[in-house]
Amino acid sequence: MPAEMLAIPVLPAPAARPSPWVVESIELGKTYGERSPNPVQALRGVSFTVAPGAFVAIMGHSGSGKSTLMNLLGCLDRPTFGTYMLDGQNVSRKTRRQLAEVRSHTIGFVFQGFHLLQRLTARANCELPLQYAGGLSRKERRARASEALIRVGLQDKLERRPTELSGGQQQRVAIARALVNRPKLLLADEPTGNLDTRTGLEILALLQELNSTGVTLVMVTHEPDVAACAKQVIHMSDGLIRRTEEHAVPQSARQALAQLAAEEKAP
Ligand code: ADP
Repeated sequence: MPAEMLAIPVLPAPAARPSPWVVESIELGKTYGERSPNPVQALRGVSFTVAPGAFVAIMGHSGSGKSTLMNLLGCLDRPTFGTYMLDGQNVSRKTRRQLAEVRSHTIGFVFQGFHLLQRLTARANCELPLQYAGGLSRKERRARASEALIRVGLQDKLERRPTELSGGQQQRVAIARALVNRPKLLLADEPTGNLDTRTGLEILALLQELNSTGVTLVMVTHEPDVAACAKQVIHMSDGLIRRTEEHAVPQSARQALAQLAAEEKAP
């Protein structure tokens, strides 16, 4: 019988409250080989938040748990304990299939080794995430891919294959590919790790420019000079956050580039 016939007041559903955070990590933990005789506690309960428009660097020595944390943030793996809220949605207990769905709509990835498909052009590489996510016509996918490549300064390289591009240009293609789905969160794992100093700074300048237009960024690095370009640095060791650092004025990669050029010119 309908509720109104019983004179029971029907309460309106509570309005969904948008989360103020892109990432809310609550006591996140990961243990590898839980049932093995030698389990490894890679993450031992880390809590932090990432606000929209943030640029966070995660730093720590090898083995401190950075990759494990990135895998969780990127929905590539599930925590053993704790809660991960991504854009207001609890994704901690989702199935692998559900996580893949969340990934394709919410997260963009940039890796140290670019991970581009060699047989495809820059534009076709950028079209791939749109193909996986579905919902757009071929024409729309091409337009979105071109738009992303123009955004990273590769307007004249749309039809080039990775082998015809420099390392820095390949990383730009990878950044365009990460942006093409307009993700809520861009995750960059050592994005300058394979590049020389100048090219690394150019990529950092691009990331800072994207961040200034509202792209939310979390980047793993072990280089203090790279972390200096972020607005906030999370220092990790032994699977725990030891300290968080705020940069009121982050190092400008553009300025560092100008300084480098001046030093090269000096006799
Ligand atoms: P980082 O990225 O800071 O180098 P990781 O997250 O890769 O650190 O590793 C944290 C700890 O977890 C290390 O002790 C590492 O050996 C261990 N570890 C990482 N991945 C696995 C895995 N798949 N199985 C078992 N142990 C792992």
